[in-house]
Amino acid sequence: MARTIAAESWGHSTVRTACPLDCRDACTLDVTVEKGRVVKIDGGDVNPVTRGYICAKVRRFSERLYGEDRLLYPAIRKGQKGQGTFSRISWQEALDHIAERMEHIRDTTGAEAILPFCYGGSNGLLTQDTNDATLFRAFGTSRLARTVCAAPTGAANLGLYGKMAGVTYADYVHAKLIVLWGVNPAASGIHLIPYLRDARRLGAKLVVIDPRTTSLARQADLHLAPRPGTDLPVALALHRYLFEHGVDERFLAEHTKGADALRARANEWTIERAAQQADIDAGALERFAEMYRSSSPALVRCGWGLERNRNGGSAAAAVLALPAIGGKFGVRGGGFSMSNSTALGIKADAWMNDTPEPRTRLVNMNHLGRALTEYTDPRVEMLFVYNCNPLATMPDQNRVLEGLKRDDLFTVVYEQVVTDTARYADVLLPATTFLENYDIAKSYGPITLQLVRPVIEPVGEARANAEVFSDLAARLGIGEAEEETDTLLRIAGRLPQNLSAELLETGSATPPFGGTPIQFVDVFPLTPDRKIDLFPAALDAGAPAGLYGYQADPASDKYPLALISPASEKSVSSTLAELRQRSAALQMHPSDAQARGLATDDPVRVFNDRGEVQCPVALNADIRPGTVSLPKGLWRKSTYNGSTSNALVPDTLTDLGGGACFNDARVQVASLGKH
Ligand code: SF4
Repeated sequence: MARTIAAESWGHSTVRTACPLDCRDACTLDVTVEKGRVVKIDGGDVNPVTRGYICAKVRRFSERLYGEDRLLYPAIRKGQKGQGTFSRISWQEALDHIAERMEHIRDTTGAEAILPFCYGGSNGLLTQDTNDATLFRAFGTSRLARTVCAAPTGAANLGLYGKMAGVTYADYVHAKLIVLWGVNPAASGIHLIPYLRDARRLGAKLVVIDPRTTSLARQADLHLAPRPGTDLPVALALHRYLFEHGVDERFLAEHTKGADALRARANEWTIERAAQQADIDAGALERFAEMYRSSSPALVRCGWGLERNRNGGSAAAAVLALPAIGGKFGVRGGGFSMSNSTALGIKADAWMNDTPEPRTRLVNMNHLGRALTEYTDPRVEMLFVYNCNPLATMPDQNRVLEGLKRDDLFTVVYEQVVTDTARYADVLLPATTFLENYDIAKSYGPITLQLVRPVIEPVGEARANAEVFSDLAARLGIGEAEEETDTLLRIAGRLPQNLSAELLETGSATPPFGGTPIQFVDVFPLTPDRKIDLFPAALDAGAPAGLYGYQADPASDKYPLALISPASEKSVSSTLAELRQRSAALQMHPSDAQARGLATDDPVRVFNDRGEVQCPVALNADIRPGTVSLPKGLWRKSTYNGSTSNALVPDTLTDLGGGACFNDARVQVASLGKH
C-alpha cells in the first residue's frame, strides 16, 4: 500500500480519519487540509458516538502539530542535561549512535541495563507493541510493567469476569438507574454525556460518587463525596445491604462462585461504619443502597478514579461485583461498564509472539525513579522513552528527575514535541502524530475499530514508530527495515474474525452484537469455568490485606489533606498540556483555606516529605473538605517551581495490579509568603 496523501492533501480537502489518543471514545475525525497544512479538525458524523463533535483538546491539535515545541529533526544534546539545548543531526547519525550504544551496553553490562519506557501517548495498535516490542524482546532489554493506569481495575475485571465486555454508551438510555463511580465524563470521554442526558429524559435516576461536586454531580439525584481511598468500604456496605435484603440465589448458584467469601468480607461494613470511614452521610448511603437494590435496569459505570489508591483493586472488584449480587445482569442497560478494550478479542500477542518475551528483569513503570537511582544488577544505563512523558506522569517526580539528571544515563526520547522528559535526553528523535501516520484506533468505551490515515506529510523530519523501530532493529541485525504500510498490513492481517478486510476497505469494522452486547445474554464471563469468580484466590493472595481488605488512610497530623489529580478537560493525560497558558491552581474547600488564612489567588506551597508544589490556590466549595486537587498531566511549566502533583505522590503500589497510588498523596498547604 503506497501513501498517496501528497496528491490528496494539496489544495483543499477533508480527510476522514480517527483519533487514537488515550480516550475511551476514539472519535471519527474530519480533518480539513489546505495546501498540505491542517486547518481544521472536526468530528465525523458517520460515527453515531462522535455525533459530529469532538473535544476542545483535539480541536486544538494543530497547535501541537505546528507549535514551537514540535520536534522537527533528530538532535543530540549540547550542554547540561535539562538545559534543553540540542544540535541537529541526521536520522542516520542518530540511529547509528543509538545502535552503537545499545550494542556496547549489551556487550559490557548486558542488555537488561537498557530500559524501554512507553505508555499510551499514541495509543493505536501500530505505535506500540509492534516493531518496538520485536526489537526490545529480541535484544533482551529489561521489560516494563505498564501499570500506571487501569491495572487495578483490569486485574479486578480479569479476576472476576475474565474481562467480559461491558455495557456501551447506546444502552445507557435503557437504564433506570445510572451510577457514575469515580469518573467524570465531562473531562474524559465526553461522548457519554448526550446518552446520559437522553437516559435522564427517559426517567433514569443518576448517582455520582466523586469527592468533587462536578457538573454531573450537581445534576444527580444523589451525590456521595467519599474521602479518597474509601470507595471500598462504601461498596462493601452496599453488598452487605444487598445480602441482607435478599439476593437471587439461583443466579448466584448458577453463574457465580465465591459469594460466601465476599459476603464474609462485606459483613464487616455496616452502612454506619462505612459512612464514618468515608466521611459521608449514613442516611444518604442507605438511600443509595436501596435505590440500587430496587432499580432495574441498573448500570454501574466503574471509572478509574477509584483505583488510584492503596485499596484501588479491591474497590474496583467490589464495585464490579455489585451487579452479580444485586441481580442486575440479563437486561439491556443493566450490569457494569468499564473498559471494552478487549471486547473485539484483539490481542497484541497475535503479532508480538513471533518474538516471544524473554524472562528479563521486569520494572514497574511507577518505580521509574527508584529504577534510575537505586536499581543495580544491572544499573539502568540506557532509558529509551517513547509515547510517554514520564517526568510529568510518573509518581515520585523528584526521584525521576534525579535519575534523568544522571550523567552516566544515556537517554533517548522519541517524541512529537519537546516534553519535560525530552529536555533530559541525550538523543532526540522526532515522531509523527496521528495526523501524519497510519494507525488502528480501538475505542474502549464504545466498541469500535477504525483506520487512522495520514492526512498530511510528516512535519519536518518526523518519522512513524513502526518504521523507526524496524530501522533500528535492522541496524542491530534483528530483522529487516519495514515500511509503515507493510507493518499496517501485517498487523491488520492478524486481527481476529473478518475485521481486517472491512477495516482496510471501509476504514472501520463492524463490532459484534451491533456494538451493544447485553451482559449474560450476548456475552458471558471469560473465566475458565465461565462463572463470575467473586473471590478469586489469586487476587486474595496478592492483596496485602487480602481481597476486599481495607488499608487505613495514610494521612497524619503533619499531612492531613488528601491530594487528588483528576483528568481535566485541557489534556489527554499529559498530551496537549503544553498548551496551558496559565499556572494551574490548587482547588481547596473554603473551610480548609480559612483555617490556613488563604484567599483565592494566594500563592501557596503544597508539600509533604517528598516534595513541594508552588502555585496559586483557588477556593472552591465543589471539592470536599479535607481534599485538595491539582489537574492530572500538568507539565512542569504550569506551576511556579516546576513541580507538579506527582512530586507529592508516593511510588507505593495499589493492592492489585501494581498500579499507581496518585490519590494517596497526603499533604499540607501553607501560604508561600510565610515560608
Ligand atoms: S480525545 Fe477523545 S473526545 Fe477528543 S477527539 Fe480524541 S477520542 Fe474524541
